[in-house]
Amino acid sequence: MRPPECAVCGDEFTAPDGRLVTFVERDSDRQWRERVAAERMVGHPPNTEWFCRVHAPAAIELAGETIDVAMRALTATQSAVRQLAIAPRAIDELLHLFRERMPALVGEPAASASRARTTSDRRWTPTDGAQPPYCPYVDLDVTTLTGRLGSVEVRWERAMWNDAEAARRTATLIVEPTLGERCSASATVGDGFEGSAGDATSVLLVLGTPGAALQALLDELAV
Ligand SMILES: [Zn+2]
Repeated sequence: MRPPECAVCGDEFTAPDGRLVTFVERDSDRQWRERVAAERMVGHPPNTEWFCRVHAPAAIELAGETIDVAMRALTATQSAVRQLAIAPRAIDELLHLFRERMPALVGEPAASASRARTTSDRRWTPTDGAQPPYCPYVDLDVTTLTGRLGSVEVRWERAMWNDAEAARRTATLIVEPTLGERCSASATVGDGFEGSAGDATSVLLVLGTPGAALQALLDELAV
């Protein structure tokens, strides 16, 4: 088992240092819980998250809110996260675009895309009642490329009920310039996520200050 990761800063920590915080249920969270109970599975509820020692106190204070409201407040104090309205796009299409632009974002010609490397990982969420391969899981593909101007990473995360049904899919683009600030742009489709409608999303969450190349991509996506 991997150590838990803080939902705010992404730091991994060992168990006694962090806290698992459960927020007020939204309708989609209640449906999830009822479904898991009916199917005798125990997964990681969508309104529950891990927080590191630094972020746990603020998270606990916000436990009376729903998780989307709480996460917005927590990430806003962590660093300036802004919501960017984009023309609705299928999440697969957005992922493809992120991958296609990786070379340009680190100052390399398009052909250098062949140097990008991808690792894939599946994390099962086993329970008392359900063991792999009959329990929900999270698949994560991480594609990385380093170039003249820094490094870029595209993360493709799918939280799956089973092989046919996704609970949540997130595409994230992270640019780490050699000179400049790390910046990420991500979009999620799934029940209860803002801007999500079926397979399409109309909201990007942007964390950090984009450099010129990333800003150009964001401008292209913006409504
Ligand atoms: Zn943290």
